[in-house]
Amino acid sequence: MFTHHCSACSRRQLMFFSQVARSTEVADGIEVSFTCWCGEDQTALLADVTATRTTADIAAGDRGLVAA
Ligand SMILES: [Zn+2]
Repeated sequence: MFTHHCSACSRRQLMFFSQVARSTEVADGIEVSFTCWCGEDQTALLADVTATRTTADIAAGDRGLVAA
């Protein structure tokens, strides 16, 4: 699983790999497409498949899972 800062609901959500509809290997890692808990389609770049944060989370800063 990994966390993702959703651009639609502006929440940091815990996503499960079972929610990933598509994954594409790119130069910087793996780009995944999935549906957020709010229902919006999202994409994220996982720089390392063992990482638990997406690059969007890292850019947004580490505010904790409960941050709104
Ligand atoms: Zn969302």
